Amino acid sequence: MSKHKERHYSDRVGWLRAAVLGANDGIVSTASLVVGVAAASSTRSEVLIAGIAGLVAGAMSMAAGEYVSVSSQADTEKADLARERHELETDSEFEHQELATIYVNRGLDPSLARQVADQLMAHDALAAHARDELGLTETHSARPIQAALASASTFAVGAAVPLLLMLVSPATYTIALVVGGTLLSLALLGGLAAQVGGANVVMGAGRVTLWGALAMIATAVVGAIFGTVV
Ligand SMILES: [Zn+2]
Repeated sequence: MSKHKERHYSDRVGWLRAAVLGANDGIVSTASLVVGVAAASSTRSEVLIAGIAGLVAGAMSMAAGEYVSVSSQADTEKADLARERHELETDSEFEHQELATIYVNRGLDPSLARQVADQLMAHDALAAHARDELGLTETHSARPIQAALASASTFAVGAAVPLLLMLVSPATYTIALVVGGTLLSLALLGGLAAQVGGANVVMGAGRVTLWGALAMIATAVVGAIFGTVV
């Protein structure tokens, strides 16, 4: 075992990023909705209904969007692999040459590149082309249903935060408590994500909190305007 220790964060950043983004979306959009409807001086039950509708609508839309995007990515990968498999069967010499050229472009000299290409293709030709020509790795293999469920549930968890804040706050302080609690949870979430991802915690927390604040200001202004006009 070598003593060389290097911490790589990229692996776990992928799923974490998706989870944090989902929760973030849920918190920001539902808090903004609640603040906007409350600013239009609606009753407590109207605000609550709007918030719950926002949670369900957002979770469904996240699920649908994620399902469609991951499925079409999976379709594209499958089609690419099928084409590659066909080419390997019909024009093996061209495929050897193609792979060798890729390694030359990465810095190997031509004879070594050809040797590497030949050995990798003897081992698993499709895998070698998938990885080095198409850029596909095993971890890429997309799972649409899982992605959809993960998105929807992280959104719902995030959306529950402002709704719970609203439920526990006395009527006169609803907006203040939802805004304060939302900003705090966004800061915690952003900081946590940055920490786990090995990035700057203050920057991570600040970025996400700023956008949350902007979203709530926007809906509060709109709510206040339409609340007096309509
Ligand atoms: Zn190829």
